Amino acid sequence: MNTKNEGVISEIERYAIKDGPGIRTVVFLKGCPLKCRWCANPETQKSIYQLMYWPNRCIACKQCILECPNNALSWGNPGIQICRADCASCGACTQICNSQALTMAGQHKTADEIMQIILKDLPYYQTSGGGVTFSGGEAASQGEFLCKLAKECKKHRISTCIETCGYAKWEIFCELLPYIDYFFYDLKIIDEKDHMTYTGVSNKLILDNFSRLIQAKADVTVRIPVIPGINNTQKNVEQTIRFLLEQAPGCPVSLLPYHRLGASKYDKLDMEYTLAELAPPSEKEMFQLKEQFVSFGFPVRIGE
Ligand code: SF4
Ligand code: SF4
Repeated sequence: MNTKNEGVISEIERYAIKDGPGIRTVVFLKGCPLKCRWCANPETQKSIYQLMYWPNRCIACKQCILECPNNALSWGNPGIQICRADCASCGACTQICNSQALTMAGQHKTADEIMQIILKDLPYYQTSGGGVTFSGGEAASQGEFLCKLAKECKKHRISTCIETCGYAKWEIFCELLPYIDYFFYDLKIIDEKDHMTYTGVSNKLILDNFSRLIQAKADVTVRIPVIPGINNTQKNVEQTIRFLLEQAPGCPVSLLPYHRLGASKYDKLDMEYTLAELAPPSEKEMFQLKEQFVSFGFPVRIGE
């Protein structure tokens, strides 16, 4: 596979401690083939730049309206209204807005620029057993660029993780295999129709890639976002356990309780959040779920 030297990221987070072993730098690559209804990072779903409006920061100076070359902004209720069809994501309004009430999700970065940031924390990785985690969005949706970054990390002997939904061509995972130490692999729903309903895509490719990674002896931890009433049903739990017993008995499992931390971002992007009424699972529910997996021999962690 050819490598690509530039990609689109939403953010680089330094000193992360929940995205793999030790202290890590997390690179969030933009773009994802899934549209999970519970997604906490909706600004990473599209690979293009996206304008976000934060009304609580806005001081109503209306400078942005004058600055926009496309007349995509107007004053309404509440505050600035963005005509998404006319917005070319040029970023001029974000430059003029001193209050940072308009921000742009997305930036192009070269592999060298990202490596410069990653390498700043080399001593922390070495002393904590940490490294770099590629997340998203779906990091593998920018497969060539991801491979380039992973190879660069390995040149510097930096530990690498990927947090993946598994929906990418097998060739990408195959290329990544020698350069990724840990795969955190989402298994959301086993029933194909239900998976399509709640994520927008079939899970066939995801389940196939999972099996192939296990066969290739990759270090895989299964991550299950626990979404009440959607995938913590008895049907899905039993199907997930059965699938894992067949494909990866004894595989580590992380149960991630649903949270609403990303819900407020949807308004800022003019997107609809369809789970507004959904409450997170209780500690008791999480513990009971953990016990089910443990009883079938899976080592289980909650929340990481
Ligand atoms: S420039 Fe910023 S603070 Fe002023 S109206 Fe526009 S969004 Fe609000
Ligand atoms: S990003 Fe550019 S086109 Fe879009 S609203 Fe702002 S100034 Fe206008």
